[in-house]
Amino acid sequence: MNEIAKPETFFGACPHDCPDTCSMLFEVDDGKLLSVRGNPDHPMTRGGLCVKVKNYEERHYHPDRLLYPMKRVGPKGSKQFERISWDEALGTIVERWTDIIEKHGPQAIAPYSYLGHQGLVHGLNGGDAFFNRLGASVMERTFCGEGSCTAWLLTLGPTAGLDPESYIHSKYIVIWACNSVSTNLHHWAIVRDAQKKGAKVVVIDAYASRTAKSADWHICPKPGTDGALAMAIINSIIEQGLVDQDYVDNYTVGFEELKERAATRTPEWAEEITGVPAADIRKLAYELATEQPAAIRMGVALERHYGGGQTIRAVSCIPGLTGAWRHVGGGVTQFPVWEHPYKFDVICRPDLIPEGTRVISNLQIGRALLGEGLSDGPPIMSLMCWNSNPVTQAPETDKIVEGLMREDLFMVSAEHFISDTASYADILLPASMGAEMEDMILSWGHLYLTYNTKCADSPGEAIPNNEIFRRLAARFGFEEENFKWSDTECLERYVDWSSPPARARTSTT
Ligand code: SF4
Repeated sequence: MNEIAKPETFFGACPHDCPDTCSMLFEVDDGKLLSVRGNPDHPMTRGGLCVKVKNYEERHYHPDRLLYPMKRVGPKGSKQFERISWDEALGTIVERWTDIIEKHGPQAIAPYSYLGHQGLVHGLNGGDAFFNRLGASVMERTFCGEGSCTAWLLTLGPTAGLDPESYIHSKYIVIWACNSVSTNLHHWAIVRDAQKKGAKVVVIDAYASRTAKSADWHICPKPGTDGALAMAIINSIIEQGLVDQDYVDNYTVGFEELKERAATRTPEWAEEITGVPAADIRKLAYELATEQPAAIRMGVALERHYGGGQTIRAVSCIPGLTGAWRHVGGGVTQFPVWEHPYKFDVICRPDLIPEGTRVISNLQIGRALLGEGLSDGPPIMSLMCWNSNPVTQAPETDKIVEGLMREDLFMVSAEHFISDTASYADILLPASMGAEMEDMILSWGHLYLTYNTKCADSPGEAIPNNEIFRRLAARFGFEEENFKWSDTECLERYVDWSSPPARARTSTT
């Protein structure tokens, strides 16, 4: 009797731009992904996946998946493409880029990527070393966490902050500008458990989100006024004599300057700006200082307004004033990534950037494509996009589309589907996804680095992003070691594996 092969199970990780980075289990039979489920053994994500990836295998084999390299055969944006070979696709790219470099210099080529994939190998920074070596313009990723991260580093330094798992020990939890129930659900599960144990959960948000509706207290400031609220909390903690002076004296700097700055930011002053009653601000300040351990979870929305960085700075000062850091479950969480032992100098190779290379803000890609605000250097004559869809995600869509419609712009897109941006490409490259490539997926919502096994075959002729850059580097004759490492070898070198477990725990589950 013939033995019937059974499907095998492999560890995976959700690669989406999401704080949770869920640990997954891939069920695979003969190179085909059969199903995806949550890994119940992961201490943070505990077997839960959100609706976005519940049917992840269907996305792998979706009929619209881009399977082969293609070239544009109709007007830009018309989505008229024709299948070509990898040899022709890469040959065309090298020929066009070589021509552009000869005529305009390498800075006329611009890369564009973001967190469409959170892997160390195939994700955000996957093509950086290649484009740095090419001498292309540097595309600064000013999106999203840039203001928040700068504020955090200025205020608290490169520390992970409060471990999201330790909220189970908190007695007082403030979730500030984050709809955790919908967008950080595994942390919400911990908050919920703490709430069941008696912790008071306060949500500060400008609308009654699902999270706010589950809170013990919803404080509802006017949009964009969180900084004023934070300063009034600081004022009130000081005015009510609730400062942990011993902690301030021994573990902080700048208290006198902060006290002076906050002196006029009274709860009454903030009430005018925020609409939150002064009495509520005093009560919140009192409880934050006296109900220890007190935790503050800042959401990404907190920086999404003018002065957002300064808001993050003000909120980040609160646990230092109250001494909340003394307690397990006390402190503040931003993105707990700063102690993760990634070796970005090896991943990105900034040493390969030619001196004087210009920097373009990815927020202003539309303007840059139209030549607006490019203070120096040549016009952008070629753009390569991967892990990103700026037409739907970056500001000034009209300018981006106008730029992508330029007949003299040569555009390359590595994608899973013909996205709004990819539809303007001259060359489309089919990229692998999820279970089709080995990687380590970082998290900005917990302290685990999660391994993703390559266990399924890519459909058609799709290949992983890193393989695209390996092949391009080979065609350009780049000799640096980076461009010859396998994905496994990249992982061995991209992480400081000697980093002690106390600094950053790593899970292969
Ligand atoms: S919650 Fe986030 S990390 Fe988890 S499956 Fe959904 S998108 Fe992926």
